[in-house]
Amino acid sequence: MNTNGMAVVVNSLEKRFGSFIAVNGVSFEVPKGQIFGFLGPNGAGKSTTIRMLTGILGPTGGGGTVAGFDVRTQAEKIKANIGYMSQKFSLYEDLTVEENIDFYAGIYRIPEEKRKERKEWVIEMAGLQEHRHSRTGILSGGWKQRLSLGCAILHEPPIIFLDEPTAGVDPVSRRQFWDLIYELSSRGVTVFVTTHYMDEAEYCDRIALIYRGELIAIGSPEELKTKFMQEDVLEVASDRPQDAMVELDQLPGVREVALFGKGLHVVGAAGEAERLAATVRSHLEGHGFAVSRVEKIVPSLEDVFVSLIEARDRADQPQQEVRV
Ligand code: ADP
Ligand code: MG
Repeated sequence: MNTNGMAVVVNSLEKRFGSFIAVNGVSFEVPKGQIFGFLGPNGAGKSTTIRMLTGILGPTGGGGTVAGFDVRTQAEKIKANIGYMSQKFSLYEDLTVEENIDFYAGIYRIPEEKRKERKEWVIEMAGLQEHRHSRTGILSGGWKQRLSLGCAILHEPPIIFLDEPTAGVDPVSRRQFWDLIYELSSRGVTVFVTTHYMDEAEYCDRIALIYRGELIAIGSPEELKTKFMQEDVLEVASDRPQDAMVELDQLPGVREVALFGKGLHVVGAAGEAERLAATVRSHLEGHGFAVSRVEKIVPSLEDVFVSLIEARDRADQPQQEVRV
């Protein structure tokens, strides 16, 4: 099938569980070699989408190709051409590190003459030289995670799917894991990764935001921050930021205030930043705050996502907006 240099092509992909629509008409493409982030809150439909793309779950509507193979009819071909690290790593805790690798080498039918080399590659990549004979159960989360990734790519697939690979591991291990992702990507491997960490979204070449089964934005981190943001964000530095937040919350023109680091992010309508900045400053000063800075900033991805999700909620359920 001609997929024009695309590792993944998805058209109106849908998954219903009974009357519930977990993935609702999602369409996108992932060029070869890209790090593609699939971002969304819990229950958004990320894992269900991945399970359809990896040939584990059949779609109830739409379709697509992965590595050029049809997700509806060529699941076995897809499985042979991808690596998949599921949300729960599937390592055997009672086996040693080497035994786990040997087990997966068997599953993936790595030719006998290549097994040793691939095993050493995984051990080195995961930094497990000292632990090759350790029982997997005693390893820290970060090591298990790198071992899982290694096992998932023993057969050198051109595309890997990682479902929340860094959930629950410490920040240093997350950073090391992302170094591995970059390394794979630099060798031309396409990486499809789900996450709900905003900092990780920043590391991706492109991001799709999925919410309640629907794709609500897609683009590079830069594009999302500049094109999709329908609102302006001010950064406000003052004393007593908590109190300032309460003070600003009810101010006309302010759509949202949130604590961000030591300061505040104040969201207002696009194009109103200057006027809003003046209002914010005079309001705070009028109430006895020492304001050191009010400045329009490039929004963070978190600002963009909160804004898009809230806009979607407002559009979906205006009649349900009950205030108490
Ligand atoms: P995410 O990975 O983004 O957290 P999931 O794809 O796991 O979300 O789930 C999306 C929605 O579909 C959730 O509401 C979940 O409860 C529901 N869901 C997932 N799998 C099934 C299933 N086998 N049967 C019924 N509902 C399911
Ligand atoms: Mg999930």
